[in-house]
Amino acid sequence: MNSLTNSKNIEKRSRESVLFITLDSCRYDTLASSCVPNIRSVGPLHKADAPSYFTYGSHVAMFAGFTPGLARLAQPILNPKFGKLFKLVGAGFPGKGTESYELDGRTIVNGFSRLGFKTIGSGAVGWFNPHVPTGRHLSEHFERYFYPGNSYSLDRQLDFIATELKAAGSSDVFVFLNVGETHVPYYFNGAAWDPDDNPCVPFQKTNRSAECRDRQKLCCEFADGMLRNLLAAFSESTILICGDHGDCWGEDGLWEHGVSHRCTLTVPLLVRVRGEPVCADQSKAIFTTKKRFSRFVTRIKDRYGSEAR
Ligand SMILES: [Zn+2]
Repeated sequence: MNSLTNSKNIEKRSRESVLFITLDSCRYDTLASSCVPNIRSVGPLHKADAPSYFTYGSHVAMFAGFTPGLARLAQPILNPKFGKLFKLVGAGFPGKGTESYELDGRTIVNGFSRLGFKTIGSGAVGWFNPHVPTGRHLSEHFERYFYPGNSYSLDRQLDFIATELKAAGSSDVFVFLNVGETHVPYYFNGAAWDPDDNPCVPFQKTNRSAECRDRQKLCCEFADGMLRNLLAAFSESTILICGDHGDCWGEDGLWEHGVSHRCTLTVPLLVRVRGEPVCADQSKAIFTTKKRFSRFVTRIKDRYGSEAR
């Protein structure tokens, strides 16, 4: 299965270097139930809100620094509203001092390039096709870029990245990888099913949610094995892994993404910054009115006993 030729020997990258991976369409519950030890080694798995419900919108937002976040946590990085991992600063947008990387440019890719980082990118799904205007927009700021032409060529994407990392020597790098295997039709090279058999078609009447769940999970586990060496090379650097959006699997009669729904807007998120995993600090949680009331009732019960009315 593992056809990594170049990536077997990826050298450790600098502390400032960044690896940004989007598992396209990956649902939070899929990753949570998958056996993905390499991805899990990055840090704790967080349940986050995506910045959009389709690939282009979400990546344009993320390339402007609006990465998925936990809105009810007053903590930098995990909540980009509180402090961004990648902050585009400029005349009207000063940093707040809570950002991990302050960047000046049209996108974070452009910003890293202007800082002197080597920028290397590979996007698998159609929105990343550099021969169409939208794909050109997502890919134009990378110094080195590879579009494989289908959504199940992670081996070729990783070989490209490994080759480019070798050429970059000891430079700081910003590497972006969009994994397509987790996107419909949920297929990877060597899978036991036909790539033309898509179990998640918009407006379908047949309930194939079980196959969607099983296949996306197996795609995650396949990607995890393939990503082992790349993740190890960045273990002392910064890594962000997230879904760009999720998919609906029949919830409220909906299928796939491109629609605003809790299933398309809930994504997995794992982060480490300069070698340190980013954990949620529950003391920074913002409580809702309902939770505040619940805590008030608990205090009353503690004081007066559970029979208090
Ligand atoms: Zn997507």
